[in-house]
Amino acid sequence: MPECIFCKIINKEIPAEIIYEDEQVMAFKDVNPVAPVHILLIPKKHIATLFDLTTEDSDVIGQLVLTAKKLAVKLGLEEKGFRLVANCKEDGGQTVFHIHFHLVGERFFAWPPG
Ligand code: AMP
Repeated sequence: MPECIFCKIINKEIPAEIIYEDEQVMAFKDVNPVAPVHILLIPKKHIATLFDLTTEDSDVIGQLVLTAKKLAVKLGLEEKGFRLVANCKEDGGQTVFHIHFHLVGERFFAWPPG
């Protein structure tokens, strides 16, 4: 999707602080962090929202969650934990329509959200 900002990051057309990349997934720092650790994990395949997932995407979704876990360990979040969030469409607060998980940590997050 040429107009998608995250596809542009994948294609290195715009810069990002890339933390991890393999054939299927990429992780980079959020440009507007809400926590000392705020990383976005995205599939390289353009998928607009969680509603657009099919069973063909189960492997890449698994890779995203496993990558989040590996990065959380690498970043020293094992003791205190972290939050992994996927916002979906308007009520979920999604602003970029290329699915992503937010990995946020090194601060406390209340539940439920306000
Ligand atoms: P969401 O609101 O869940 O769709 O999250 C989109 C996130 O993408 C926000 O936290 C933005 O700060 C972040 N974001 C938007 N553009 C960029 C960019 N060019 N590089 C890094 N993060 C971005």
